[in-house]
Amino acid sequence: MLHLKELFFPPRCGACQELLPVSLQGDISMLCEDCAAQFKKEMMAQCKECFLPIADCRCLPKIMAARGFTAHVKLALFSDTRYATARGLVLHLKQSADMRYYRELARLLRPNLVATMKVAEQGRAASGKLPINRTVIGYLPRTPAQKRRHGVDQAALLAKALAREIGVPLLSLYRRRSGARLQKELSRRERFDNARLSLVLRRKAAKLSLTDCRVVLVDDVITTGASMAAAAELLQASELIGVSIAVTPRAEK
Ligand SMILES: [Zn+2]
Ligand SMILES: [Zn+2]
Repeated sequence: MLHLKELFFPPRCGACQELLPVSLQGDISMLCEDCAAQFKKEMMAQCKECFLPIADCRCLPKIMAARGFTAHVKLALFSDTRYATARGLVLHLKQSADMRYYRELARLLRPNLVATMKVAEQGRAASGKLPINRTVIGYLPRTPAQKRRHGVDQAALLAKALAREIGVPLLSLYRRRSGARLQKELSRRERFDNARLSLVLRRKAAKLSLTDCRVVLVDDVITTGASMAAAAELLQASELIGVSIAVTPRAEK
């Protein structure tokens, strides 16, 4: 069935913005045929640490591991010069609130995320620790200025789609102080300090006890992992898993 929304806002390719034929029925329907083929190749790019396709790998930056993350689930690599489809998609989502893209990304992220949670559970059972009672999803919000400028908080929308996809609650855990500097303007060391200063736990979230919870934290792109690490420091979760659409290849960090 064609939804009214699609008549007025016909779907466009999430990467190259070309209009999509209404009848398009590929396994990646948010992208045109060429971009879908390209994105599948990008998801197969080999992780340099575990040698798995990037969409199956769970490797994470040291700074995240040091703060309790057990895995980072992502779909593709993000680079200024290569991986044009992932890059086009991420840049487009910074100003698109169209849930069709986010729902599809959540669907693509689901298998590895669910498998990661199962692996963690088995590890826990083997270690004799208490099982995790529940999983919740949180996200790293944009700064108020960014949100005003673009009208979209892409990490929040991806987290919302992912929460629905795997059937767990979505929590708004953080807010950002206005006046925070943009992470991309900073050096690696400055990023962690800046993220720590700019991220604040919401008052309601501060009252929650997450010590028996697995928290899945969502962002659009993970570059150094500094923001994720800073976010983790504010929580006391039983387990942390990072999720993003893309990750910057290690050599470019
Ligand atoms: Zn396209
Ligand atoms: Zn890996």
